Amino acid sequence: MTAPIEDWSRKEKLLNWAGCYEYGINANHLHQPRSIEEVQELVRRVDKIKAVGTRHCFNGIADSKHNMLCTVNLNQIYHLDKHAHTVTIGPGIHYGALATYLHENGFALENMASLPHISVGGSIATATHGSGSTLRCLSTAVEAIEFVKPNGELMRLKKGHEDFNGAVVSIGGLGIVTKYTLSIQPSFQMKQIVYLNLPMSVLKNHFEEIMSSGYSVSLYTRFQDQNIYQVRIKSLADPNHSNHKEFDFERFGAKKIVDRDVRSIIELPADFSTVQRGIPGPWHERLPHIRIDSIPGATGAEVHSEYFFPIERAYEAIMAVESFRERIDPLVYTTEIRTIEADEFWLSPCYKQRSVAIHFTWKQDVKNVMQLLSVMEEKLKPLKARPHWGKLFTFTHEYLESVYEKLPRFRQLLIKYDPHGKFRNEFLDKYIFGKKEERAKI
Ligand SMILES: Cc1cc2nc3c(=O)[nH]c(=O)nc-3n(C[C@H](O)[C@H](O)[C@H](O)COP(=O)(O)OP(=O)(O)OC[C@H]3O[C@@H](n4cnc5c(N)ncnc54)[C@H](O)[C@@H]3O)c2cc1C
Repeated sequence: MTAPIEDWSRKEKLLNWAGCYEYGINANHLHQPRSIEEVQELVRRVDKIKAVGTRHCFNGIADSKHNMLCTVNLNQIYHLDKHAHTVTIGPGIHYGALATYLHENGFALENMASLPHISVGGSIATATHGSGSTLRCLSTAVEAIEFVKPNGELMRLKKGHEDFNGAVVSIGGLGIVTKYTLSIQPSFQMKQIVYLNLPMSVLKNHFEEIMSSGYSVSLYTRFQDQNIYQVRIKSLADPNHSNHKEFDFERFGAKKIVDRDVRSIIELPADFSTVQRGIPGPWHERLPHIRIDSIPGATGAEVHSEYFFPIERAYEAIMAVESFRERIDPLVYTTEIRTIEADEFWLSPCYKQRSVAIHFTWKQDVKNVMQLLSVMEEKLKPLKARPHWGKLFTFTHEYLESVYEKLPRFRQLLIKYDPHGKFRNEFLDKYIFGKKEERAKI
């Protein structure tokens, strides 16, 4: 069972999922093609257009002043290749629907993000990730990509092509993606265990052990009282297939929860949370934090930011953020610390870098959040912080170019595939091309 899809074209204001960002078009310039041919025809007809998936980003990354192509109807499952272990899909399908289909057919994805309601296309374009010291971001499942070029023609790139590593995490800049072929694996069972209240100081000498004590590990803190208030460990249910070494959390005073499930924001009811207490279940009902059949989000009235650091600097980065605890306190719902394996995608925050990511779910006080981010980022720059493309940040183009060594090459790739900027928007102009004039909407 999956959540219903909202008919966005009936809305008066076109807003992102959290309602904190208003897109620059009205419903007359919102297009929802139902086939690849319709995408091609539309792209030929217009001068400028930007794809949008499920609108779960918090900035202008999917915005356009001209036309937006919503991928909601491009949600087909084209082909499940049981021998090659691949599935070919449209970009608009969301992970919940894809995961349910794969599981019913005996297959699985390697990992999922916290929320299954996000579109596959939007997630791949921004290097969306889950957690797991040996697991890479979700974009690394891509084996092949098909997209519509500015002239309406289709282009296919496979793994191994010289442009592939630039084209997958593309922020939608190369064209409208119409198909992905993803690698899959046999379905598996998982279980989730939660511990409460681990002293933050334990991370100093045991960070890597803790983060590799399960298939996927998340730490939650509000950065108050030097306390990790929740450790969430997702493990393979069959211990014979697991090469993860359990960590003795209770030795450091943390308490295992055996009698109830909890939410990441621990004060909220756990109705939307995936099942915990060590109860085994299918991978797609344990890997996301939020249940597939639920209404997503902490409160809806939230905004997110997230920074990635080299894993060797994890404790330093956590302490750098912690030094802002008093300013963080009134603004934050929760923060989540995760680890991600390195990949080869030019614009991935984990490009050639095993990473720790510190994510913030903020209250929707955008002005004060942005003020805090601008101060905090100054302290994070020496740690080579890379921001999540789809969340709030204040870094400049110049700084981003200093931490994304392939950004100039990505710029050349955009010029190669889209020389007249049909798929470019103010976000790409500002952060990739270094132009200064983005609207200050958020
Ligand atoms: C409650 C919540 C939980 C989240 N959890 C996580 C998490 O666990 N991990 C994480 O990393 N992120 C997380 N995110 C962030 C989110 O996963 C990413 O921002 C992701 O990009 C959202 O996908 P979308 O389809 O909603 O993107 P959109 O905002 O719709 O689009 C994002 C980008 O993708 C491009 N795009 C979309 N479809 C296409 C296409 N067909 N062709 C070309 N370009 C395309 C758009 O142009 C845009 O640049 C979360 C967000 C929310 C609100």
